[in-house]
Amino acid sequence: MIVGTPPNVPGNRETMTQVLVDPFGRRIEYLRLSVTDRCNYRCFYCMPRKGACFGNAGDFLTNDELARLVRLFAELGVRHVRLTGGEPLVRRDLAELAGAIGGFPGIDDLSLSTNGQLLGRYAQPLRRAGVKRVNISLDSLDPAVFAHISRSGDLVAVLDGIDAALAVGMTPVKLNMVVMKGINDREIETMFEFAMARGLDLRYIETMPVGPQARESMACHYPAASILKRLRRYAGAGLVPAKGSRGAGPARYYQIGSGPAKVGVISAVSRHFCAGCNRVRLTATGELVFCLGRSDRVSLREPLRRGSSDADLKTAIHAAIARKPRRHDFLPDGTGAISLPMSRVGG
Ligand code: SAM
Ligand code: SF4
Repeated sequence: MIVGTPPNVPGNRETMTQVLVDPFGRRIEYLRLSVTDRCNYRCFYCMPRKGACFGNAGDFLTNDELARLVRLFAELGVRHVRLTGGEPLVRRDLAELAGAIGGFPGIDDLSLSTNGQLLGRYAQPLRRAGVKRVNISLDSLDPAVFAHISRSGDLVAVLDGIDAALAVGMTPVKLNMVVMKGINDREIETMFEFAMARGLDLRYIETMPVGPQARESMACHYPAASILKRLRRYAGAGLVPAKGSRGAGPARYYQIGSGPAKVGVISAVSRHFCAGCNRVRLTATGELVFCLGRSDRVSLREPLRRGSSDADLKTAIHAAIARKPRRHDFLPDGTGAISLPMSRVGG
């Protein structure tokens, strides 16, 4: 991948310390860091059952390399880093990496997305390393449905992981449920009860056409509007838009009366949220991905391993951000999708 330098990005020192603003005036403050493309699950909407394509071992960035890039992003105004994957907890040195990132001036929010399987073991060291909050994927509370979706997941371990995150004081703990027609949509209400009873935020997610599983995931697409309709019917007039929660994030949040837990619906396909997009993604092999719905990306590994200075790397990052598109082009039939798997891009 070539790192281009668009004409509106001068390569002088002043630019190098400037915050990152894309061509549409969106300030980039959020980095999703995919620390590995490996996973202990094979969720059918994300990875094929067999023959998943993984990056070459030699291309994976070390902790020192990842931390250096994150430090540069922090110096360019990134405030929030989310550790994701693949499954981030299968990277054995994750707590060390988290500790390094959490210590960079400017990073005031370090969070984690996980399937929860290994969280019982790692919640404590990660909390100590500075991970304050966590999103845990939980698509079903029925062991058979959970096993069918994840192909290799253990529901009991995930429930233990949720308890461990709460016990070490991660807050908020959010649950993410990908809703799929005919597979787990009958659990919309049960999941709502489960989350609200524990004071956990819950986000329902529409399937997105990403990577080699795009068609499979869109074959069971369940639109956000239908999820909301079901919730309104179930929760009645008590379900109201949550106050002060409409930030740059993709979810639209609701709450029950004045209760603490929030419920959100992420509708990337049926109602996109690109206008407020403040994020980019960095893969474990050092590729900067601008949009979940576009394949365009830039390798930061090449200049990093060529021995580029911090200043040159910042210039490369500025040049890359100038390529962020206005919006994604997901199409409901699964076409127009990014070719990289979600597990590599960092969902
Ligand atoms: N392994 C971790 C997990 O499952 O939470 C982190 C990485 S995963 C790629 C991040 C999020 O992407 C998860 O909530 C997952 O459910 C979601 N995801 C993966 N593929 C998706 C798809 N095709 N459509 C919608 N969400 C998807
Ligand atoms: Fe793994 Fe997360 Fe993808 Fe499931 S959604 S296969 S847990 S990366």
